Amino acid sequence: MRELFKQCNACKGCELYRSRTNLVFGVGNEKADIIFVGEAPGEQEDLLAEPFVGRSGKFLDEMLREIGLTREDIYIANIIKCRPPQNRDPKPSEQDACIHWLEKQIEIIDPKVIVCLGRIPATRFIDKDFKVTKQHGELIQKNGRIYMGTFHPAAILRNMNNKILMQGDLAKLKEIKL
Ligand code: SF4
Repeated sequence: MRELFKQCNACKGCELYRSRTNLVFGVGNEKADIIFVGEAPGEQEDLLAEPFVGRSGKFLDEMLREIGLTREDIYIANIIKCRPPQNRDPKPSEQDACIHWLEKQIEIIDPKVIVCLGRIPATRFIDKDFKVTKQHGELIQKNGRIYMGTFHPAAILRNMNNKILMQGDLAKLKEIKL
């Protein structure tokens, strides 16, 4: 993984490397059974070089604690490794340019479960027309792994009514035999 990080840190595969502060490669247990996949780094992530820090990160930690997991038990990474300016959505061309880094991380870790946080990772890994509001929490067997799409923590912080739905989705992870 260290070698992959070095290569990724030198990547100029799209324009985003120009405006980032730090590469946000991914953190956690490199032998984890579960990977959580987000979309792209935000301001705090860009400054600290770590995915899911700040309010969204604290909320995700709380959700993990409820199912008996900590960050040391899982791996977390984004599809996009450099922050898009003003936190805009990553363009499809940027996703296409960057996703191979995440795919290599997944190859190395070889997890049993991939949890997609929010629409963009779910459309890349589960179904190109994935609708979070309709398909969240579905467990999908594909290529020898189990995939699940759920809400992005930032979306829950904007609408706490959906917190209970995300709690229900993540509770299903406890039922999977890992
Ligand atoms: S966002 Fe990804 S593809 Fe673009 S420069 Fe950064 S690491 Fe390379």
